[in-house]
Amino acid sequence: MRHPITAQQVNELAAQLDASTRLLTAADGDYYEKLISRWADNAVKRAGAVAVPVSYDEVSKLVKFASANKLELAVRGGGHSTGGTSSTEGGLTIDLSRMRAVKVDKDTKLIVAQGGALWEDVDNAAIEKGLATVGGTVNHTGIGGLTLGGGMGWLTGLYGTVVDNLVEAKIVVADGRILSVSENENADLFWAIRGAGHNFGVAVEFTFRGYDQTNEIYAGGLVFTPDKLTSLVEGFNTRMKTSEPQAAGMLLFAKPPGMPVAVVVVNVFYNGDEAAAKEYFKFLFDLQPVAITAKMMPYNHLNALLNPLATHGRRKALKAVTVTNHIDVAFVQELYNDYSQQLEKNPDMSASFLGIEIHDVSKIQSVPLESMAFANRGPYRPGIVGLEWTDPKMDEENRAWGRMIQAKCRQAIIASKEFSGDTKTSLEYANYVEPGDLITDRPFGGNQQRLAILKQKYDPDVLFYKTNPITPLRTEAN
Ligand SMILES: Cc1cc2nc3c(=O)[nH]c(=O)nc-3n(C[C@H](O)[C@H](O)[C@H](O)COP(=O)(O)OP(=O)(O)OC[C@H]3O[C@@H](n4cnc5c(N)ncnc54)[C@H](O)[C@@H]3O)c2cc1C
Repeated sequence: MRHPITAQQVNELAAQLDASTRLLTAADGDYYEKLISRWADNAVKRAGAVAVPVSYDEVSKLVKFASANKLELAVRGGGHSTGGTSSTEGGLTIDLSRMRAVKVDKDTKLIVAQGGALWEDVDNAAIEKGLATVGGTVNHTGIGGLTLGGGMGWLTGLYGTVVDNLVEAKIVVADGRILSVSENENADLFWAIRGAGHNFGVAVEFTFRGYDQTNEIYAGGLVFTPDKLTSLVEGFNTRMKTSEPQAAGMLLFAKPPGMPVAVVVVNVFYNGDEAAAKEYFKFLFDLQPVAITAKMMPYNHLNALLNPLATHGRRKALKAVTVTNHIDVAFVQELYNDYSQQLEKNPDMSASFLGIEIHDVSKIQSVPLESMAFANRGPYRPGIVGLEWTDPKMDEENRAWGRMIQAKCRQAIIASKEFSGDTKTSLEYANYVEPGDLITDRPFGGNQQRLAILKQKYDPDVLFYKTNPITPLRTEAN
């Protein structure tokens, strides 16, 4: 049982912290309100106190204090969880928003970023040295939450997941120790944080492997009327038989303001020149898009392209969905019909979208499932239902619709020829999940038991539990 922080505890804590750490309560007015705000309004909770540290030692003091007093604790990275997992009602929040420094070494190609950095911090610092790494496709998301859950982005086809490129990290574990983790140091914890990291501590620093990225890239959107959906999906199915890792696509249903019907937007990415990109995506251009925004640009502009569709505020929920590698045309048409009917029924949801990510999966699948906690390595295509609305009374109903789509996708995949019955991989991507979603039954697939044993070792009193929680497992060995 975890407790809210009392006024007396706030005073005790303040006395232990050094002057660099800010500690705020509701009495501090606007600054406190700004600190508890989140990407989604429905994820805002009124913390009893918010601490904003700038040093790893101060994070350690905060974690020790929360452990000793059995406090309810939240850790805030970029603040994009729609399920409120970086917020607390009455407890203590450790807010990492002043820990965003990034250092890049051109020679070793290592990118060292503090736990509160956003992807824009990483992308911008890396490209200055002619480098890039796998990162989020909306650059104001936090590297913290995204990395600890696995992380996929436009460079995934080439280099795998974010955690496949994590070389080292510094984690403040529940007893306050600041542990360096890598293949050579605290290797068991390194294994656990690569996919299930939200459960093991506060990540104050990440070291990512960077890759040469001196060329510009081709990226942007192609907009199609919905009658093209079948041809688009068939085109992708054919294209992906000879896919190239430097290319990726994202097929989205969206209803831009002023459009009478929901349209199909295909966002494309090609790490190469325009002629090669247009050749690779020829099937899309042949289908006569009604609008094209794709063009050549510097790499660090790429992950800003979707920002206008993902602005802060309003009520939101993400729902992980998964479809087969060979995408079933009739099923995707059914999803489009569900989506457009729902928006017609409830126009307050018209900024919602449904997307399927289409990249070369061979790199992700080349990494053995047992090599780290991340378990979404099945031969499937991850997708997402991004729900958005304004009416708080509709929170449950709108989420329920998203979960209905999630269940439908899961049933379809299980019924498909591609499903092997393998329970080692997890079907839905753990980072697109909220408490109460389908995936929460077994988010780490075959890695679940080892994680439970490591939870007992590093966090037996379950201080960190908000994202895909793990119950500690006591064994004779531990
Ligand atoms: C607009 C949008 C775009 C997205 N795009 C992608 C994408 O391209 N690829 C992808 O893989 N995922 C993507 N996601 C999903 C994303 O990975 C998760 O929402 C992720 O949790 C966001 O991390 P955050 O730090 O911004 O969130 P927060 O709300 O701050 O944190 C989410 C969880 O992570 C924990 N956490 C955050 N930082 C730390 C830290 N340093 N140490 C310990 N715990 C921490 C929090 O405690 C909480 O449990 C996207 C989400 C959104 C909303």
